[in-house]
Amino acid sequence: MKKEKESKDGDLMEKMVSLCKRRGFVFPGSEIYGGFAGTYDWGHLGLALKNNIKQAWWKKFVDSRRDMYGMDAAILMNPKVWEATGHVANFADPLDGKQFNTMLKTSVGARKDEVSVSYLRPETAQGMFVNFKNTVDAFHPKLPFGMAQIGKAFRNEIAPRDFLFRQREFEQMEIEYFVRPADWEKYFEYWRGEIRSWMEKIGLDMNKVHELEVAKEDRAHYSSRTIDFEFDYPFGKKELFGLAYRSDFDLKTHKLEYQDEENGEKMILHVIEPTFGVDRAFMALLLSAYTEDPAKDGASEKEPRVYLKFKPNIAPVICAVSPLLKNKPELVKYAEGKVFVPLKAEFGRVVWDDNGNIGKRYRRQDEIGTPFCIVVDFDTLEDNTVTVRDRDTGAQERVKVEELKNYLKEKIL
Ligand code: ATP
Repeated sequence: MKKEKESKDGDLMEKMVSLCKRRGFVFPGSEIYGGFAGTYDWGHLGLALKNNIKQAWWKKFVDSRRDMYGMDAAILMNPKVWEATGHVANFADPLDGKQFNTMLKTSVGARKDEVSVSYLRPETAQGMFVNFKNTVDAFHPKLPFGMAQIGKAFRNEIAPRDFLFRQREFEQMEIEYFVRPADWEKYFEYWRGEIRSWMEKIGLDMNKVHELEVAKEDRAHYSSRTIDFEFDYPFGKKELFGLAYRSDFDLKTHKLEYQDEENGEKMILHVIEPTFGVDRAFMALLLSAYTEDPAKDGASEKEPRVYLKFKPNIAPVICAVSPLLKNKPELVKYAEGKVFVPLKAEFGRVVWDDNGNIGKRYRRQDEIGTPFCIVVDFDTLEDNTVTVRDRDTGAQERVKVEELKNYLKEKIL
């Protein structure tokens, strides 16, 4: 039984990696030169999905709040930052009995006497801490408040593996939330809820999400409490996101005080850090969405129907537009001029698909998770309605062309 499950899960991983390549989501990095371990390149559809994940995050945690300040810090930082934070001494994994520092070293500067060793940042967090004072001086935030950043991070992982799970170049979405020392527990619980609610919002399978209270000896050197949000990947239950209480570790290290502008009180704030990996979110979403319906007896298709059950707000393509027959100019003209062009201008994530018969087009769109397929047929020319077919149920309904924009807008809320 266990063997059977393992091979089924192994299959799922293989199917997902191959779908990602075949349908233009994710390609192995530098593939035509034999690849480059721990790197992946993003194709048109994968990039669209990744951008939707990042936008959904930014919308919830930055744009819809009053207490959050966005950042985009440089990837290259003064190496003194990483000495001060303990990364140079402690950011390491065991290799052959010795500790191997996993920061990615690089040298910066041209002339010999100017060259200094620096690191590609292993986390986005420090870019926010070193700009704490700049942010406070510019915006005068009241407590509590946060800083948020999305960006690349690099780690010289000893053994990159499991597709996007452990890469050497990846992307993080992080929040540093600054609170009065006495309030940390309250906000730790608050962020625990916020992380869960965002996972639900983007459509992660919450039955596969588990919380792990990380034991002291397993926590990062800066953390006084950590909860890992783990996900049931085909290769095991492993970290997806994290929530750490970094106490005053960072602001004390950088000697950064906060002064309450109302009563003059000075203090070192404590930090709650919700951290999200974009690539792991992407993979967990694909695994949550991947569905196979067995081929029905007597159905013309022999292969099972594969579809990605993405929520419309996150799907790389919202709808595909087709003329029923591509050799009927009156259908093509209508579909293009009255349906495709206006929808494309409104939503962007709209594709034109007139290849093969309708059944094949539906299957192709199912496989990339397009929630709606719109077909212009001969009735359309008479009554200005089109068929909208639902990806998950296969149900079709007639919708007036003039109502299509609102129809789709309601679905992608
Ligand atoms: P792990 O224990 O799996 O190595 P970590 O505890 O080192 O992860 P953090 O330092 O907490 O990870 O990094 C924050 C987030 O960045 C993680 O929750 C994860 O989503 C993402 N992440 C970390 N390392 C990688 C990697 N090598 N490839 C892809 N994503 C990563």
